[in-house]
Parts: sequence; structure tokens; C-alpha cells
Amino acid sequence: MLLSREDTAAGAAVRSLPRFDPYIMETYLDDLREMKRQVYDLFKYNPELLTGPELSKEEHRAMVRTQLRALLKEGINPLTFFDRDYKKYFYLAECLSMVDLSLMVKSGVQYSLWGGSVLNLGTEQHRRAYYDDIGAFRLPGCFAMTELKHGSNVAALQTEAVLDVSTDEWVINTPDEGAIKWWIGNAAEDGKAATVFARLKVPSQDSQAGLVDHGVHAFVVPLRDEAGRCLPGVEIHDCGYKVGLNGVDNGAIRFSHVRVPRMNLLDRFATVDKSGRYSSPLTSESRRFAATLGELTGGRVGLTCGSVGVLKGAVTIAIRYSAGRQQFGPPDSAEVSVLDYQSTQLKLMPLLATAYCLHFAKDHLVNLYVDMKRTKDALLVEEVHSLSAGLKAYTTAFTQDALSICREACGGHGYAAINRLGQLRSDHDIFQTFEGDNTVLLQQVTGTLLKGYRARFKGAPLSSTFSYLKQYVASELVWTPYE
Ligand SMILES: Cc1cc2nc3c(=O)[nH]c(=O)nc-3n(C[C@H](O)[C@H](O)[C@H](O)COP(=O)(O)OP(=O)(O)OC[C@H]3O[C@@H](n4cnc5c(N)ncnc54)[C@H](O)[C@@H]3O)c2cc1C
Repeated sequence: MLLSREDTAAGAAVRSLPRFDPYIMETYLDDLREMKRQVYDLFKYNPELLTGPELSKEEHRAMVRTQLRALLKEGINPLTFFDRDYKKYFYLAECLSMVDLSLMVKSGVQYSLWGGSVLNLGTEQHRRAYYDDIGAFRLPGCFAMTELKHGSNVAALQTEAVLDVSTDEWVINTPDEGAIKWWIGNAAEDGKAATVFARLKVPSQDSQAGLVDHGVHAFVVPLRDEAGRCLPGVEIHDCGYKVGLNGVDNGAIRFSHVRVPRMNLLDRFATVDKSGRYSSPLTSESRRFAATLGELTGGRVGLTCGSVGVLKGAVTIAIRYSAGRQQFGPPDSAEVSVLDYQSTQLKLMPLLATAYCLHFAKDHLVNLYVDMKRTKDALLVEEVHSLSAGLKAYTTAFTQDALSICREACGGHGYAAINRLGQLRSDHDIFQTFEGDNTVLLQQVTGTLLKGYRARFKGAPLSSTFSYLKQYVASELVWTPYE
């Protein structure tokens, strides 16, 4: 471990300086801090549950499974939080991010993606069938959206679900190699079932017209039997070693005419009756798909919280080390703590300040998300969608840059695997891509802002645009001259 500031004379001097009570600050920042203590104590007092730096992917996956089961045994059930207390769920994601990011992501796949898709896209029958087993991790599952050829453009997915009216079953099929489900978390080793996103096709009511494609919908598809063997028609391959997050078992899945009952359609937004008649209260395919994706914003909120947790952890490691580390100094005097150098302060203090800002920003997002779930207010749905996209993109990009700065600030010792910054940098990198690629998310935010701008100024004279900009600039770009 990096030397803590208590370990050196300079560290002791720094420690005696501040008149700062971390307890008051923590009380102000974290009203759920008791859960943080419970989680951190679990790992602190059970060091056999801590991930070491030199594990193979198989050992790391086994460790993450053990960690997840230990949390459940401790009475911390993420699905219950995700269902009843979102604030707790997101706070847990933040706490887990500094235990092991693979654990945070594995938990996210199981509870927010697999569990969340069943709860939010399905109806009461699906909740009854799966809730307890998902919660207890007896039914590990996947969220199988991405395909080899389509990641960001999910409306173009090619996997098919065709209704066989004669047997009242969906036939799930991968039509070509580009449609193989790829990168699917929980698939390579654990997944027993998956929410599979596929094009829903039913026979046309006009018998001449063949199949009607109603676009992408979600289906529950069993993957493995109790002994862990793939079911007939299901072929799964391991995606292998990744740059990071090797405690998560990502896999590729191909379906060859797999049959599941008609009720396995997650039918909150659309139903299909026994005769194959399709109905939905949402009139267009794009509105149905938007409603489906809208239910999945929780994943992005969770990632934002996890990323803020990583930023806080990395900044703490770097600042603490820089306070204790000494290099150079005035002639015939003790060496100086590197944190006393302006160059170190210029590197680390903006990160610390931004960590506070992002803490409050993600709290705001979480509170809006809770309100949105409670009120189901359409305007709030739009706002949370946009804010979660923008904040996820901003936070994960900032944290990724911060991890490199923190590593460099700790010099050579920052490069030792045991000190975690390198692992965090590798694990966190993909936060910029999954749950929506950052560039694509920012384009969505831009689209929403431009739509709002057009609605506000449509038909208005140029002068009203000018006074809006004047007002905006006055409140957003405040310049305070140095005294
Ligand atoms: C470790 C890991 C775990 C994952 N887990 C899951 C999972 O459990 N379930 C699941 O369904 N998926 C999962 N994914 C897939 C992930 O969600 C996708 O990788 C992600 O959505 C991006 O898609 P893509 O990889 O096809 O990238 P692409 O969409 O092909 O993007 C490639 C590049 O093109 C750019 N680009 C794309 N569209 C545009 C545009 N319109 N304008 C400008 N630039 C554009 C992007 O910015 C990016 O730089 C996982 C991926 C990884 C790596």
C-alpha cells in the first residue's frame, strides 16, 4: 500500500494543520453513511473477500461471486433496493465501486439490468415468476441487447422472435453472425436466463402478407439448466480477457430456433394474444422503443454514481500519498511534501473540487430519478433521460482523465498494482462506452437542448433570442477578478 500521511514526519505535520472535521463533512454529504460502514466493514474484517492484484479471470470471477453472496448474507439485497429504495441502490453502487469495480458491474448486470428489465418491462406475472430467485442470485441472468454488428444503434438489432401460433411459443433465432449477442455480462459462466432484445414478428392477420415486424422487444429466454449446461439451441462463448473488469464473465450468445412460451414476452408496453394479434397503447414503433429504453435509465444513473465513487477514491489515494511523499527542499532543511508544490496542487485540487461538485450533481440526478419513478411525470422522464445521459458522459470522461493524473501524481509507486490506480483506470475506462457510448449520449443531449431551444424561440423575433443569451451569459459566465 502507498504510505499514508501518518507514516512520515511531513505527513504528521500535515495532519496537525487542518481545522477540518471529516465527521461533520461526512454527515453533511452522506445521509446513508451507515450502509457505507456496513459494506466497508464487511470487507475490512474479512480480508479473504478482498480482490488481490494477480488473479486469473476465472479466479477473479469466483471472487466476485463470493463477494456478491457475502453481501446478500449480510442482508444487503440490491434487488430489494432497486425495487423499493432507489437512493439506497445507487448509494450501494457508489460504495461497491471502491471495493472492486467488477463487483459493482456484476451487481449492476444482475440487479439493475437483468432484474430491472424484468421488473420494468414485464408485468406482475414476470415479477411473481422471477423476483425471489433473481434477488437471491439463484437465477443469475443477463441483459442481452448488444449484437456483434449493432451496439449504439440498437433499433437495428437483428435477433428475431417469431410467434408460432400453432404451439403458442416464440421462436428466438440469430439469423446471421452479425446478430450474435456480444459482450453480454453474466453470460460466459453464470447466466441461467437472459432478457433478450429481439425483433418481434407475428403472422400477418392477412394470411397473404407473411410476417409483420413490430420492432425490438424484450423476451425472457432460459440459457442454462440447473447443472450449468447450455440448453438446446443456445450456444455461448467466453469473450475472453478484457482490458479490465475481468471479474465479470462477458460472453457471446447464439440462438438457434429456441422456443419459449408466449408469456415470456416482457409485455408492459405491448401484448400479443394467442391468435398473434399485436396491441400496444403506444401508437408507433419509435414511441414503444423510446418507452422501453426510457425504463433502462437506472443503469446510467448507477454508472454515474459508481464513477463518482471511483473519483473520490482515486483523489483520496493521490492526495494522501502526496501529503506524505517528500522530494527536495530548502538547503539544510527537511525535504518538502510534494503536496506543497504548486504543480501538484494544480493537478490534484481541481480534481478534489470537481469530486465535490459531481457528488452534488449525482445526488440531484438520483433525487430526480426517485421523483420520476414516484410521479411518472412525462416532463420529468424526459429530463432524467437527458440529465442521466449528459452526466454519465461528463462524469465518466472526467474520472477517466483524473485516474491518469492521480497515477502520475503518485510517481512510480502509483504504478504498483497493489496501489489500485492502474486497475481502476483499466476497469473504469469502459464506463465511457457501455450504457451508451459517451459521444452518442452527448449527441442525444444536444438534440434535446436544440429541440427545447426551437420550441422556446419558434416565431419569436431575433431580439428575444439575444436577450435570452444575454441573461444566460450573465448567470453562467461570472468572472471574479483577483483582488
Ligand atoms: C465490458 C463490456 C460489457 C458490456 N456489457 C454489456 C451487456 O451486459 N449487455 C449488452 O447488451 N451490452 C453490453 N456491452 C456492449 C456495450 O453496451 C456497447 O459496446 C456499447 O453500447 C457501444 O456499442 P459498440 O461497441 O457497438 O460501439 P459502436 O456503436 O460501434 O461505436 C464505435 C465508435 O463509433 C462512434 N459512433 C457510433 N455512432 C455514432 C454516431 N451516430 N455519431 C458519431 N459517432 C458515433 C462511437 O462514439 C464509438 O467511438 C458491453 C461492452 C463491454 C465492452
